[in-house]
Amino acid sequence: MSINRRDFVKTTAVAAAATAVGMTIPKSLLASAPGIPEGGWRWDKSVCRFCGTGCGIMLATKDGKIVAVKGDPAAPVNRGLNCIKGYFNAKIMYGADRLKQPLMRLDANGNFSKNGKFKPVSWKVAYDEMEKQMRRSLDELGPTGIAVFGSGQYTVQEGYAMAKLMKAGFRSNNLDPNARHCMASAVVGFIQTFGIDEPAGCYDDIELTDTVVTWGANMAEMHPILWSRVTDRKLSDPDRVKIINLSTYTNRCSDLADIEIIFKPHTDLAIWNYIAREIVYNNPESMDQDFIDKYMQFATGFVDTGYGMRKPDHKGFTDLERQTVKKEVSKKISKEEAVTLGYLGYKEGDTLEMKHRASANGHWAITFEEFKKGLEPYTLNFVAGLAKGDPEEDLASFRVKLKLLASLYMEQNRKVVSFWTMGMNQHTRGVWVNEQAYMVHFLLGKQAKPGNGAFSLTGQPSACGTAREVGTFSHRLPADMVVANPKHREVSEKLWKLPEGTLNPKVGTHIMKIFRDLEDEKIKFAWVNVCNPFMGTANANHWLKTARKMDNFIVVSDSYPGVSAKVADLVLPVAMIYEKWGAYGNAERRTQHWKQQVVPVGSAMPDLWQYIEISKRFKLKDVWGAKNIPGLEGGLPDVLDKARDMGYDPEDTLYDVLFANEDAKSYAWPDPIGEGFSNTEAAGDGREIIGTNDEEWKGYGFFI
Ligand code: SF4
Repeated sequence: MSINRRDFVKTTAVAAAATAVGMTIPKSLLASAPGIPEGGWRWDKSVCRFCGTGCGIMLATKDGKIVAVKGDPAAPVNRGLNCIKGYFNAKIMYGADRLKQPLMRLDANGNFSKNGKFKPVSWKVAYDEMEKQMRRSLDELGPTGIAVFGSGQYTVQEGYAMAKLMKAGFRSNNLDPNARHCMASAVVGFIQTFGIDEPAGCYDDIELTDTVVTWGANMAEMHPILWSRVTDRKLSDPDRVKIINLSTYTNRCSDLADIEIIFKPHTDLAIWNYIAREIVYNNPESMDQDFIDKYMQFATGFVDTGYGMRKPDHKGFTDLERQTVKKEVSKKISKEEAVTLGYLGYKEGDTLEMKHRASANGHWAITFEEFKKGLEPYTLNFVAGLAKGDPEEDLASFRVKLKLLASLYMEQNRKVVSFWTMGMNQHTRGVWVNEQAYMVHFLLGKQAKPGNGAFSLTGQPSACGTAREVGTFSHRLPADMVVANPKHREVSEKLWKLPEGTLNPKVGTHIMKIFRDLEDEKIKFAWVNVCNPFMGTANANHWLKTARKMDNFIVVSDSYPGVSAKVADLVLPVAMIYEKWGAYGNAERRTQHWKQQVVPVGSAMPDLWQYIEISKRFKLKDVWGAKNIPGLEGGLPDVLDKARDMGYDPEDTLYDVLFANEDAKSYAWPDPIGEGFSNTEAAGDGREIIGTNDEEWKGYGFFI
């Protein structure tokens, strides 16, 4: 089929408009939007950076600039569509306030000063000060005195390099991504349920299911491409396919939904329990007994776990903050809680002391009968009264909707997919509500089968591929391994060719604790990578104030001056997504690579380059001696003798050992795969950037 430019433009506009309103268009129309050759344009495949859906895009470059973006018709995720954010992938790179050179707070004499004003500095001056400040923190506080705010927007390569630098190099596990904010409860739900931390669903279930239930997920606006697939499925069989939107307010998913259920915040947990009660008490024939007998283990845990906040006696709290934080220590049992916790003997007005704050993950096996007893209070009447969120809605009609919801889940031969995002994950009892979602799907045998499953969607482009899979959490190592497991450390040390005992077994500082430790001066050097934590975190004003007040040095690597840059002492300009090579892993565990399309603007350099450059400043003798780690008996051993036995020299830099080793160099540049494309890290890029050693940057000579 041929297509002229006018038709192509029309097709693209229709696709964009349809997607922006959460609609889909026929596949035949999409298939007719091929890349048409434009004068001197080079089209290449890439990936969108704006959410965890992982849409494939096509980029056109001309004269060293990206000039056009369109959805990739061959991409299995989005099949040629992009949402409105996707179409801005190129434009976002060329904003007037893009950071183009390192900026540092300087006094009138040109020296670093915490209270100085930002002034442009060379890469060498920036790295000299950064090295000095890192050494100061390491000398005073040891490996736990430094920290990195990591990200679900790291490329896979960036996250891996930073994990290796921090864990194998500096022997610090104080690396944690902003992904913990959105996914901590999802992660613990995965680990408790499956024993491994990965989303369990795949997008193809959308075309195979009969029922889509959204739980606190405004997919029409936040995951619009997936919603266009849901819309396509619904319109292809409107009588059979049912859409139910559970939300605390009416959103655009309701436009397509057969049923909208508006509930009070946090009562979704009670709704899941109601569905489970309907199954086990009133419709036991709907259970997949064979699956339950073979694979399910019923378990319970503590209810007095606190909420992960600090104790209210911390001197940094305002009176108002202290009111909130008091709940961390104890709370009064409400009338409704007295109903649901009655099986533990609690009555209305009792004080629930949070005795298991330090063992919130504690759990133990129970019988099916005990499990059933716990569900007993979640009757239709009780849950409807508790959960009804729209004061205008009649209670009887709300009850009917809940009943319908439960019957759709239970209906024999009806396939059901449950999607959720932050509505369930950023919840005071997020782990529990995640676990209950899997529990309901398991009871019914509607999990991990085509068209069936409970699926926690991710928000960031590589929360799965990077944050999870390459070990950027304070408790993790790459490949789903964890620092606390001796076998996992042994495997990682072998793979990374480290002396035995190098890796730190003590779980590091999670992202919230990095803020807290900055306030308490237990961390004095922090580096913000590919995220904006001082804007994105809860109670941000508190952390903005403390970060500026305390004795610390904060580096922010960013492409634009965001809120986090305001608290920085040093701002490093980074290359944006298509100005570097990279890969992302999306919410259905699909890893997608792209090539560098253009050279970075100004003197901006890739994040990866920034991490590798600091590794040149530290020698093995600086970091692999004996180190004190608070809470780790005996601290970290001196591994320099073992390193010598392995052929290393104490004068070797971390760059030599971790990044410029023979394995890495075997991925040499130039490589046929990169023919016609730049590689700033491997070969420089013709901008004559003066690097961190005051010499022109010519490249590492190999892929990092
Ligand atoms: S749905 Fe997400 S990945 Fe797809 S184009 Fe929109 S922002 Fe990009």
